[in-house]
This record gives sequence, structure tokens and C-alpha cells, in this order.
Amino acid sequence: MPLVPMGPMLRHARANHYGIAAYNMIDFNSARAIIDGAATRNAPMIVQVSVKTVKHWGAPHVATWVRMLASDAPVPVALHLDHCTDIAMIERCIEAGWTSVMFDGSALPFAENHAKSRQVYALTEAAGIGLEAEIGAIGGVEDDKVVNDDQSRLANFEECVAFVQDMPNLAVFAPAIGTAHGFYKGEAKIAYDLLERITKAIPIPIALHGGTGLTNDQFDRCIALGCGKVNISTMHKSLFIDGFINLRAEKPKLVEPLPFIEAQHKAMKDDVMHAIRTFGSEGRALAALAA
Ligand SMILES: [Zn+2]
Repeated sequence: MPLVPMGPMLRHARANHYGIAAYNMIDFNSARAIIDGAATRNAPMIVQVSVKTVKHWGAPHVATWVRMLASDAPVPVALHLDHCTDIAMIERCIEAGWTSVMFDGSALPFAENHAKSRQVYALTEAAGIGLEAEIGAIGGVEDDKVVNDDQSRLANFEECVAFVQDMPNLAVFAPAIGTAHGFYKGEAKIAYDLLERITKAIPIPIALHGGTGLTNDQFDRCIALGCGKVNISTMHKSLFIDGFINLRAEKPKLVEPLPFIEAQHKAMKDDVMHAIRTFGSEGRALAALAA
């Protein structure tokens, strides 16, 4: 089916207490594995793309691949731009056919982040697509952005309320609640009390960043508290590489590339299908689409 905006399906997810997986694609085979996994589990899916990946392949190519793969799939797929600080890049992606974008002004002072987020909100509302905006600072490494432990900071509750007030149609809101990008060194310390305060005051679905390495219990609690979008990037990147090298180790004399591409596809798709079950979005495709 055609690409869909993510706002309506995320609102359905939040209202019905399940999470929609948002996977960071790498190339065509990775996007194919993500969408095939969603189709097999009959689940809505968000294919998101890092700025680095868009720059590597070019926005029109990425949009064409995902549009083509989604058109063959019987489930709703949104194409989303992950963590972007550059409004010109956001405009290029909207032009190329993205159905949602994230403006990440979290490194800016609150007032500036708020003003720029509203500027992007006007663009996305005019284009009829979704916006994700962030406040606080999510720790870890995402693309080329490194936020050390001492720089990461939880979102401020009063700022969260003020931030979303004039963006009622925000598709998803990303307050920093203690999760981090990359693999966790110990167990992630999630500020459930802050998350609960935010979701009680704000009806917008919440994005859970830094999903790789969270426990099932952590996913369950965050989703129950209103996280409708669950981001997975690091695990997918890791399986993209492992899918190749594990087959290489198993069959060192194999020189035909297609079995490697298939092994990589299987490793990524299995993880996508597993995540869909964990987040409770299996079988939700049509209900999410009708929302
Ligand atoms: Zn993130």
C-alpha cells in the first residue's frame, strides 16, 4: 500500500497500549527485511532513516526503495527521518516523499528548540505529514552525535508541557527519560515517574529512543505508560553485519553473494518479527491503518 503518515497509527497504538517498531534502515536489503518482517506479523511499521544514511544514498533513492517495498506490502508503512538538526535536509526529505520527520533541537537552549520545532511543525502540517520533536538530551551515540553520560539530561516536565502546547498535532514527542543510543553498559535507568507525569499531562504518543538492549519488562512498562513508537537501530546494524560474517565463518569457501544477502535478510527479519511480538503490534495492521 502507499506510504502512510505515522501520526494516526501512533495515536491508535498509544490508545490501545501497544508499541509500533521504528527500525533504522541501512540499505535496500535492510528496508526489505524490516517491511517483510512487518508483513509476516501483519503489523504496522515505521522505517526510519538516519541523516548519515540519507546523505550516503541520496533522499530520492531511499524514498523510491521504501515506497516500492511498501507498495507490495499488505501493512501500513511510514517513512520517517530520524534525528535531524538541519531544516534544509528536512525540506529535501519532504520533497522526496517522506511521510514524517524528526527535528532534533535538543542541543539548543529550550526557547530556540521550541521556536525551531514550531517552524518545522508549520512545514510538516503544510505537507500533511508527521513531526517528531525532542527535548532533554538522550545519551549515547547516534550518527556522528555523541552525548556523554554527563551531558545527557532528563526532560524537564514543565518544559515538556509548554513545548507541545502549540503543536497539538505532533505525531510523536521524544522527551529524554533515561534511555540511551547504542548498547547499554549496565541496565538502563528509566525515569518511569517522569514518563508517567508526562503521559498523564500530554495526550501525544511518546517515542522511546535507545530501544536496543532494553528488557521485555522495560518495554512493557514504557509502552503501558504511553510510548507508542519504539526505536531500534543498534541491534539492526549489528545483525546487518553479523548476517554476513556468520555465514562467512560457516562457509569460508562460498563465493556466491546471494546466500550472504539472504543470511543477512533472515537475521534482520527474525529480529523485526521478535520485536513486533514484544511490543504487541502483531495483527494490528488494519486497525492501525483505519485509525
Ligand atoms: Zn534516537
